[in-house]
Parts: sequence; C-alpha cells; structure tokens
Amino acid sequence: MTKQNLIGGRWCAGAAIVADVNPSDVTDIVDEYALADADQAREAVAAARAAQPGWAAASPQQRFTVLDTAGTEILRRAEDLGDLLAREEGKTRAEAIAEVNRAGQVFKFHAGQAVRATGEHLESIRTGVEVTVSREPVGVVCVVTPWNFPMAIPAWKIAPALAYGNTVVFKPAELVPASAWALVDILRRAGLPDGALNLLIGKGSVIGDTITGSPDVDAVSFTGSTDTGRKVLATATRHGARVQLEMGGKNPLVLVDDADLETAVRCAVEGAYGSTGQRCTASSRLIVTEGIHDRFVAALLDRLRAIRVGDARDPRTEMGPVVDERQLDQDERYLDVARREGAEVVGGKRLDLPGRGFYLSPALVLGSSTTDTINREEVFGPVASIIRVTDYDEALAVANDVDFGLTAGIVTTSLAKATDFRRRSTAGMVMVNVPTAGVDFHVPFGGRKASSYGPREQGTHAREFFTTTKTAYVAAGPVV
Ligand code: NAD
Repeated sequence: MTKQNLIGGRWCAGAAIVADVNPSDVTDIVDEYALADADQAREAVAAARAAQPGWAAASPQQRFTVLDTAGTEILRRAEDLGDLLAREEGKTRAEAIAEVNRAGQVFKFHAGQAVRATGEHLESIRTGVEVTVSREPVGVVCVVTPWNFPMAIPAWKIAPALAYGNTVVFKPAELVPASAWALVDILRRAGLPDGALNLLIGKGSVIGDTITGSPDVDAVSFTGSTDTGRKVLATATRHGARVQLEMGGKNPLVLVDDADLETAVRCAVEGAYGSTGQRCTASSRLIVTEGIHDRFVAALLDRLRAIRVGDARDPRTEMGPVVDERQLDQDERYLDVARREGAEVVGGKRLDLPGRGFYLSPALVLGSSTTDTINREEVFGPVASIIRVTDYDEALAVANDVDFGLTAGIVTTSLAKATDFRRRSTAGMVMVNVPTAGVDFHVPFGGRKASSYGPREQGTHAREFFTTTKTAYVAAGPVV
C-alpha cells in the first residue's frame, strides 16, 4: 500500500504518487509514496504551529524519552534500515548501515541535550538586580534535506529541533522517501505528540516555497545544492525567518612530497569515491606536488581499477551506483567538458550490469588546471581530478582558490605544514591525514563561502540555530 505523509498526527493520502526506484536495479520498486500538494503543505505548517506550545512545555524528561527511544530503535534496526537505505539511495550496504548508526547516535546525543539545557546567571551592573540568560525554542522549524544522506542529515536537523522544544515540518528529497518515512514512523511511535513532526514528501518546485515562505515558519534548516539554498534563503528571509544552509563543496585534498603514500592513497580513495563520490565533503580536487605526483597517480589508478562497482546490497560491492539517470548524465557531461578543456579522463565509463542500474566506473581526471570547469563546479559523482603543483605554497593557494569552503585536507608528515594548513585553509573543516569526508556528530559541522550560511550544525553548537536567547532582569525588591 502507498505510504503516506504525516500531518497533525494523521497519515494522509497525497495528490499524486511517486515510485521509489532502486538505482542498483531499476526493475526493483522499493515502495510507493504519496506526494503532498501545496494545500497539504499549509496544513502541515498549521499543525506544527498548533502543536508548538505544547511540545515546548513538555518536560525535558519527556523530550529525552522520545529522542532516546527513537535512537534505541534506529540502532537496534541498523541492518534492516541500512538495507532500505542502500536499496533506495545506492550507497553500499556497509556505508548505509554506518549512516543509520550515525542517525541513532545523533538522536541519543540530542536526547541528552534536552536535559542539559544550560543558561547563565549573572549579577546586573545595578545593585539589587539579577540577570538570567536562558534559551527558548525558535518555534516552527522547516527541515529540507537532500537525497545523499537520507537518514543522517534529517536526524541531525530533526533531533536538535525537537530536543529544544521546536516543532518540525520535514520535507525530504523526493528521491529517498523510504528512509524519511521510516524515520518519521519511528519518532511518531516513540511518543511524539500529534503535529510535533510532520512529513511532506513532495517536489521542491511544488511545495518548497509554500513551506519556506509561510509566515508561520520561524526557521528553515536546509541542506542541498547552492542554487536551491540561495532560493530558499530569499523566500524564507522575506518574512524574517532565520535560515541555516549547508550546500555544495569542491573540497581539496593536498598531497605533498613528504606524505606517506599509503595514507595519501587511502584518503583519496575514501574521500573521493566513498558513497560513489556523492558527498558534499568529497575530495573532488586532488592537489599534488611534483615530487610525489607520479608515484601517487600510479598507486591511485591501481587502486581505482580494483574497485568493485555493483549492486549496493551485494556485500562484495565496494562502490554502488549513481543515484539516478539525471545525476549520471551530469557526471558524464562534466567528464566531457574536462576532455574538451584539455584534460585526460581515466575511467568514468558507464557500466552495463544486471538490473540496468546507473553505474559509472570511478573517474580520475589527469592534467587539469585550477581554472578548468571540473575544478570550479561541483560534479557530485565518483569523479576526482588531479591538479599538479610545484610546492606546498602553490598547493595551499590552489586549495583556497574556489567559491566553496566546506572541507579541506592535507596528507603530510610535516607538523609545520599541517599546522600552517590548518591555520590558513579557508574551509570550515580541516582534515590532516584523514579523509575530507567522514565527521563526528558531537562537534560543529559546516563550511564557509558558498558552502554554508548561518550557524553551524551538530553537537552542542546546534543550539545556536534551534534556540533563541532570552535575557531577563529581575529585582526582588525596590532597586536603590
Ligand atoms: P537539491 O538542492 O536539488 O535539493 C535539496 C532539497 O531541496 C530537496 O529536498 C529538494 O526537493 C528541495 N527543494 C528544491 N527546490 C526547493 C524550493 N524551491 N524550496 C524548498 N525546497 C526545495 O539538492 P540534492 O540534489 O538533493 O542534493 C545534492 C546537493 O546537496 C549537493 O550540492 C551537495 O553538495 C549538497 N549537500 C550538502 C551537504 C552539506 O552539509 N553541505 C550535505 C549533503 C549534500
């Protein structure tokens, strides 16, 4: 039966239906999902608005219990939820299970945050007056998420939103409704009151503006492409909503002469081709100094040729398919542009495997320069390019020479270079001898420049976005 949207605590049929297609095997339909229309989007916002005072008044213990119960179920079901995620998104089963586990950890962390609400208590500069600084919920939060982390990204937005007493209208990417539906079902059964979390599976072009443009939405937390993020910003700020955007990346991994070759290759493979390269934190630019260039490229190509591409659910698979035909076309278009601009492309071939999935072999672009399109725009596929530079100083300059600034990595055995890179990188997150992708859940996540806007996500820093500060001056008696 078609799975429905959750509005005000009721599962609702939609205006249309979307089939969730397995990118590993297009004959496999994961399930069918109701697509919401603009009227339902308005209903969901109204339901979240109506439920907000009640949820804000729920005790910290109640909020802890709901989030902790959800986290426990997610962790207990990591294997079957991982299967579902791998089946609808195409990352390998191991990657999918790791993502589900991450979502469970995020709920556990923010369950704790619900009972750890802290504030400040200060003496006023006036005698007889005391000052308290406390945190209150923002109100109704709209959560808009992309397809590439269908469990973890919704988790790291919804968990803190609910922990701090906000209610949520959740609009997942329509390519991955199964993970979103499963997550909402778990939270509803964990004891959330009606209306505290509403699910709207639907196209951004149909319901996006209705939600983000609603004066009843107090905050929008968005992750997706930079183009969409900028539209969301314009729509939401028109009525004064606060906005948090996590967007694209063109992340550099710098490999210098003194790097340990094995670490360099491992960081490049994991960072550039993990999750089929479909990560905002992917190392899409490999910036390599002259002394290590030939050895590194030879070792990397050896490793790439051995990567087993296949069905995401097959345990032998090391890289799953691209998410859909449109993304596969985009990957190939960028490889064509790279060739036309004078670079050489190794790999990057469509693979004809059983199931007619969207398979592309890992692609490495050789001999590219920092001004090439392939090094300026986000591809979002299993594609990385090599930029050869003379020394560390040039590598750093090239690393910083893009509009994006999400993550940046360096592989080096030199403490001086590692320290200098950490200080002078213009990215929001810096990695030394670890891949640019793969982050912790208890520390801030986010970038600079065109990659991010607004306060950081995750860890205790999530509080900045999901709460608003109240400063109170209290005089117990007449002030002299
Ligand atoms: P996208 O921008 O196409 O869509 C993101 C979400 O926005 C989807 O749910 C979509 O339906 C919705 N949307 C579209 N138009 C809208 C509108 N007018 N109003 C409201 N919502 C609207 O992105 P995608 O293709 O799903 O995801 C890939 C992108 O996400 C890449 O650019 C990637 O770098 C980025 N991303 C960033 C991070 C990060 O943390 N920085 C993490 C993961 C993915």
